[in-house]
Amino acid sequence: MFSTVCLRPRPLFSARRDGRLRGVSKLPAAPLPPSLQGVPAAQLFPEVFARDPHHQGFARGGRSAAQDALGQIDPVTYGRDRSHLDGHVSRLSPYLRHGVLTLNEVRDAALAHAPKTAPSRVWKYVNELSWHDYFTRVYAEIGELVWQDLHPYQTGLPASAYARDLPADLSAAETGAACIDAWSRELQESGYLHNHVRMWLASYLVHHRRVWWQAGAAWFLTHLLDGDPASNNLNRQWVASTWRAYPSLWNRGNLTKYAGERYCAACPLAQGGCPFDATYAALSQRLFTAKKAAPGETGALDPARLQAVPWEGPPAPEALEHAVVWVHGDRLSPTHEALVSHPGRPAVFVWDDELLRRWAVSAKRQTFIHECVQELPVHVLRGEVAAEVERFARAHGVRAVATTPSPSPRFAATVAALEKAGLQVQVWPGPVFGASLTPLDLRVHADYWRQVSASAFGKAPAPPKAKRPRTRKAASAQAKGGA
Ligand SMILES: Cc1cc2nc3c(=O)[nH]c(=O)nc-3n(C[C@H](O)[C@H](O)[C@H](O)COP(=O)(O)OP(=O)(O)OC[C@H]3O[C@@H](n4cnc5c(N)ncnc54)[C@H](O)[C@@H]3O)c2cc1C
Repeated sequence: MFSTVCLRPRPLFSARRDGRLRGVSKLPAAPLPPSLQGVPAAQLFPEVFARDPHHQGFARGGRSAAQDALGQIDPVTYGRDRSHLDGHVSRLSPYLRHGVLTLNEVRDAALAHAPKTAPSRVWKYVNELSWHDYFTRVYAEIGELVWQDLHPYQTGLPASAYARDLPADLSAAETGAACIDAWSRELQESGYLHNHVRMWLASYLVHHRRVWWQAGAAWFLTHLLDGDPASNNLNRQWVASTWRAYPSLWNRGNLTKYAGERYCAACPLAQGGCPFDATYAALSQRLFTAKKAAPGETGALDPARLQAVPWEGPPAPEALEHAVVWVHGDRLSPTHEALVSHPGRPAVFVWDDELLRRWAVSAKRQTFIHECVQELPVHVLRGEVAAEVERFARAHGVRAVATTPSPSPRFAATVAALEKAGLQVQVWPGPVFGASLTPLDLRVHADYWRQVSASAFGKAPAPPKAKRPRTRKAASAQAKGGA
């Protein structure tokens, strides 16, 4: 389970505030397999390392590497050039994804680059961080729905018009388009793509190749070191138009504006046959049959689910005397709230074999996670997570497990299984990035941002600013108090 924070109170988490476990009998200890801590990743996953030649991605895992990377950010220049492939992007996403760094730590580091009087110099960077928080919150609300079309495609085409499988020439980097093939190789070799490239590649796959966005999402989750069903699937649905009013397209002009001539200069299609060398109107006409949903198509999302969402989870519980700590892939940091509140207590990390198989997690991703885990004081096991955590608790003769939240439905299922097995599970919340005075409206990011932006800049939450009117008529109505 590798997802990020969840702030929504869920009864399933049963983060009870009942303090110490007075009178809780200790369980008889059961034998425990030796820890896999220290076993090289290649020995843990020999089949994956044998079939995947790329064992190391673009970033090293672990807190010290994360802090080095944090020290390199330039959030002021970022505001000007982040859309360019050579722009000053921070490449912190794997650390944020796996909770090696928190959004608040990164936000504070960004603010330190701007004078106290001018936090707006890092506005764009903090605003981008908010997308991570936003998608995480949406995922926490809708769970497995992130894998379904939230709305129907706005392309005039039914969902059945989209093929299910990733084209072989794309994963082999043999499409013939230099840009696409370079990005395919970069994804598989390094585990990182610039945001613009992710959008271009996602748009190419779903609109030009007419392959359903889920196939591309799964491909990215296999390879990206930051692969996350929240940010990955929801950004992809935005590109595909299943969570937005229109599909996202790009053309050769857009490519060269942000990437220069590096691809076209070497592309066999540059002089004829480039599928992107067209106006947006021409592309739209070629690729879509209408600018709306095909008749009879429906989406899986009831937007009411994203309205009035509580922004805060349950408060921190009191530390239990007899608890073990469960560290999962969403918070791989020595600053882990349950580790810190239970100093010296036994802690466990479990490789989720089923999930690794389902996502076909690449060797470089496993290396990154392995490097993060290596820095933690944990006993490492593998297998079925609930069963292994339960076994670990029993081996230490306790009935309580302290952990940190996750928006993943898999986390909720694991907690439920542990509770069913008679264990008490305490969930220790992390720092809140986006506090608000009112429950959140998560239907669109702009509304969420109006609610949380003060808090995102490290201030006390403030009443949301009024929506900026879109037209003169609306502005005058608003001035008269009518909007
Ligand atoms: C199709 C597609 C798939 C994506 N898949 C993922 C994914 O699996 N995991 C992931 O973390 N991000 C994903 N993103 C979002 C974004 O592309 C990456 O977070 C960003 O490119 C990571 O590089 P960076 O750390 O240099 O980002 P920076 O530009 O330096 O931004 C700083 C941080 O802000 C957050 N952020 C920035 N832009 C976004 C965004 N659009 N959505 C969510 N968070 C954002 C990230 O945590 C990022 O590390 C995806 C975007 C698209 C279009």
